[in-house]
Amino acid sequence: MTLRLKSFLAGKWVEGEGDGAALTNPVTGATVAFASTAGKAFDLAAAMDFSRKTGGKNLRAMTYAERAAMVGKIAETLAAQRAKYFDISRENSGATEADASFDVDGATFTLKYFAKAGAGLAGKKIRDGGRIGLSKSGAFAAQHFLSPLEGVAIFINAFNFPAWGLWEKAACALLAGVPVLVKPATATSWLTQEMVKDVVDAGIVPEGALSILCGEARELLDHVREEDVICFTGSAATAATIKTHPNVIARSVRMNVEADSLNSAILGADVTPENPLFELFVKEVVREMTLKAGQKCTAIRRVLVPKAQASAVTEAIAAGLAACKIGDPKDAEVKVGPVVNSRQQKSALEGMAQLKQDAEVAHESKDAPSSGAFIPPTLLACNNGLTAKHVNDVEVFGPVATVIPYADEAELIEIARRGCGSLVASLFSDDAAFTKNVVTGIAGLHGRTLVVDSSVNKQHTGHGNVMPQCLHGGPGRAGGGEELGGLRALLLYHRRYVVQGPPTLLDALGEDCIEINALFA
Ligand code: NAP
Repeated sequence: MTLRLKSFLAGKWVEGEGDGAALTNPVTGATVAFASTAGKAFDLAAAMDFSRKTGGKNLRAMTYAERAAMVGKIAETLAAQRAKYFDISRENSGATEADASFDVDGATFTLKYFAKAGAGLAGKKIRDGGRIGLSKSGAFAAQHFLSPLEGVAIFINAFNFPAWGLWEKAACALLAGVPVLVKPATATSWLTQEMVKDVVDAGIVPEGALSILCGEARELLDHVREEDVICFTGSAATAATIKTHPNVIARSVRMNVEADSLNSAILGADVTPENPLFELFVKEVVREMTLKAGQKCTAIRRVLVPKAQASAVTEAIAAGLAACKIGDPKDAEVKVGPVVNSRQQKSALEGMAQLKQDAEVAHESKDAPSSGAFIPPTLLACNNGLTAKHVNDVEVFGPVATVIPYADEAELIEIARRGCGSLVASLFSDDAAFTKNVVTGIAGLHGRTLVVDSSVNKQHTGHGNVMPQCLHGGPGRAGGGEELGGLRALLLYHRRYVVQGPPTLLDALGEDCIEINALFA
């Protein structure tokens, strides 16, 4: 009998009526599970109220340090089930060992980071800045504070990170003292549900702190309230629907958006094929195109190279792609699995057709299986990066990138900015003046820039790797959100307020506070 995913709401597991949506194996097309949220058992208003009242109260009774210890126990519980999660990733996402590791190990790594980072925070709220005198005698003063939100953190997540997508957010919300209700993308919700189930069964989190809705979101947004925060990851189109939901607008519900992004890898004009940075650059592009079959929000979509190196770079990337075996991830030699399902395959092929209006095919990998949701790794070449219509605009969520030559520094900066807001750009060069100019020139439209010169060499953390210590998010098209960045991440889950009054009251209010500077250490 096919697995039917239950949801965990108001402290109880509930099952929807009917089949609902089918989750599939992208290699075979077979149904691996069903997820339904139909029926009266799904009282979303009551579920969110339970999270706010019971979960929020339980979490806020703990100190940051106590919650950090809880986050650490979540990481341990998940790490113990790693093999099971890899199996689910392969069955439902078509993930290779490396793909599954990126998602699952990325989740535990991030949880462990926040467990450690929060361990020294022995307080229950945050004092923001110094005392502000408001009277000559000193009898009247002001103090800013930050307190954990008294609502629920609603995570509406994308299909490509069923593990990391939940836990990189939950680590921060739970550490802040805010209960979590996750609505994973239905297509890959099995892994998220299994992880939540393991954590709930382990009895690590207090009642109401963690809930999951598997399947259609139904009228979830009708029940969000002013104390809640919506953290959305997914397409810009869905983000716009959620942002403009009448209840979200009417209640001014806080919302953080992580959306799509046309990220660039940039090669400096000083880097010729003999320079080891050249090979490092090519390796990074190939890795970014093939890992998770290109289904990463941070993946390299545009390869910006000096005109003189365009053909050398194209040939080297093509050779790298040709060496990557495509197929069923059950085969240990396979480097590129399928995309997540036939819907995503269709969407990627449609996007590629648009890119081809601007670009030539420089390489298309052979031997992709003829059935299943496979996209052959494809490298395109576009000679008019500034005027091209689609290459700076269409995110193909698959193993596809476009090489775009640039004439000079000014043109390079202009092309990189044509992404209209990106999560990340990486820059490979030993020319210090060039890297400084480019970083400054693109900073307004990029959340993160990774610079690799000969002194960094292989020590860099990777273009697409999101480090919990560093900011993740980008302006404009990338959604305008901010996540992670070390303990800065806690700010999203707090509300700032100021109290004006007698200093004795301000002292009393500050008794269980940590200082805001602790978040920026
Ligand atoms: P999507 O189709 O926009 O779906 C995202 C989530 O929104 C899913 O959970 C979906 O649920 C839910 N949803 C759809 N309509 C809704 C509604 N009316 N009310 C409430 N929830 C609703 O995105 P996707 O295809 O899963 O993800 C791919 C995109 O995510 C790519 O563009 C990628 O770049 C982006 N992404 C960005 C980041 C980042 O950190 N910036 C990370 C990962 C992915 P159902 O699945 O049930 O429809």
